[in-house]
Amino acid sequence: MMAYRIIDTHTHSYFPAIAADQESIFADCDRAGVEYQIQIGCDEISSLAALDLAKKHKPSRATLGLHPCDVKNVGVKNPEYHRYAGVEGYQMRAKNFDQLFDLFAEIFERNSELVVGFGETGFDLYHEDSPEIFALQSESFIRHIDLCQCYDRPLIVHTRNARYQTLSAFEKEIRGKNIRGVIHCFSEDLEFAQIMTQEYGFFLGIGGVLTYNRTEKIREAVLNTPIEYLVTETDSPFLVPRKAKNKGARINHPGRIPEIIELIAEIKGMKTVACAEILWENGLRLFSLGNAD
Ligand SMILES: [Zn+2]
Repeated sequence: MMAYRIIDTHTHSYFPAIAADQESIFADCDRAGVEYQIQIGCDEISSLAALDLAKKHKPSRATLGLHPCDVKNVGVKNPEYHRYAGVEGYQMRAKNFDQLFDLFAEIFERNSELVVGFGETGFDLYHEDSPEIFALQSESFIRHIDLCQCYDRPLIVHTRNARYQTLSAFEKEIRGKNIRGVIHCFSEDLEFAQIMTQEYGFFLGIGGVLTYNRTEKIREAVLNTPIEYLVTETDSPFLVPRKAKNKGARINHPGRIPEIIELIAEIKGMKTVACAEILWENGLRLFSLGNAD
């Protein structure tokens, strides 16, 4: 019997690393107390894979989105990369942003019970820092916001090496609008956390990165951000938390969240179960979910 309930607000469990061993990994997740997994889409095919998993696996919900690193690849099927269970043989339909975001709207309208958000979107200038990619990321970000407004769903934001760009996009595109959401894989500092939580009411997604070395700034942000704004996530199959990694784990999954919750509780000086219960409620609030049971 697990001690508390868990929501993974950001996972890609449809990735081959997890899908190949899904039964045993999902059994581990059940044992850990994971009651919801939010499968995050990164492009046309992965969004459909996320939705397909949400249809088959009851604790899952899905989001539809275009990852900032994929903005140049709309309409391009990459056989190396697009190997997701449930969408083998799928022919891409969208060749440009107009077609892709129309398609997301259409998919949403047919699956509004299971699609709980839009993204991940945002800014990532880590792999490529050019005016061209920034322009595409900005346009994609705005399209996601339009969907969130149209369908009253939260925005899932990714930001890497793009602090200034993300802050100015929020200032320009989100301030004054009724948009809620989450800064996924939070790895910025306290000042950034304060702007996102206090000025925009966004949640911060806390995952494996918090457990790594040299993350004092993130820990300071977690310590000083009211717990009502924190949610748990993994970004599975990536970002295995430190203790699991030290035991040899190479694939992350939602069942590894207890290590994150224990560390958040330790930083905040709370009892783990009390902390976990608040983090669970926060996740339900972010995605407007009911209690799973
Ligand atoms: Zn992700």
